[in-house]
Amino acid sequence: MFYRARKRFGQNFLQDARVVRHILEVLDARPGEALLEIGPGRGAITRGLLRAAGGLIAVELDRDLARELPRRLEGLGRLQVIQTDALRLNLADLPDPGPFRVVGNLPYNVSTPLLFHLLEQADRIRDMHFMLQREVVERLAAGPGGKTYGRLSVMVQARCRVEPLFQVGPGAFRPRPKVESAFVRLLPRHRPVYEPAAADCFEVLVLRAFSQRRKTLRKSLRALVPDGALEAVGIDPRARPETLAVEDFARLAAAVECAPL
Ligand code: SAM
Repeated sequence: MFYRARKRFGQNFLQDARVVRHILEVLDARPGEALLEIGPGRGAITRGLLRAAGGLIAVELDRDLARELPRRLEGLGRLQVIQTDALRLNLADLPDPGPFRVVGNLPYNVSTPLLFHLLEQADRIRDMHFMLQREVVERLAAGPGGKTYGRLSVMVQARCRVEPLFQVGPGAFRPRPKVESAFVRLLPRHRPVYEPAAADCFEVLVLRAFSQRRKTLRKSLRALVPDGALEAVGIDPRARPETLAVEDFARLAAAVECAPL
């Protein structure tokens, strides 16, 4: 069937067999694993995953692609396609209890909200492997001190280990995206870096600090953190947010009371 890629669904289909092979190698899917693919599209990755694991659940927003996929991959394994928006996906409602190995060449226009949505359900996830815009992977993996380190790095690293795996050029996709891509592995931690009771406070502090990243922490956090609280947990109030490690934010969140956002 002729199919025109839909820009609004972020459709850039993988068409480089070497890249697909590389993805399948690093995933190393095994029979019996609970695989969940986000945005299977025309099945570039799905095909190999089905062969390796014998079954998977795929969540696809595009009605036409969702309808077509089982026909395309008929006979390769137990494929369950759920036609819905992955941003609304509740892992607890899926016909498999997990823990899931989540994989996707993600639509770049929704990749960050999707990451946050999945992280909220990280207790049901064993690992995640995503193709993302290279710049997003750099931000996910960045350590303190640089320009790429920010809210996304801190929020994700607090809950996951981030392993950038390899880079992929625009020529691997049809249509060609305007950006470079990279494949990344995220391994949820057993427990987040922050105290569970301080989760909301951690989020508020990180958001506030990085929304005014050129200000000192004393200024940007003035409304949330009482005088002396930064010094009390060993943080220089004149520091800027990008110099703080994830653990610094966690220590601060445990030490102060935050009003909700
Ligand atoms: N996995 C295929 C591949 O590698 O060739 C397609 C990747 S394409 C970059 C992204 C896929 O995600 C498309 O099939 C698109 O229709 C689907 N998609 C876009 N937004 C989505 C959403 N919110 N929920 C689920 N799928 C979505």
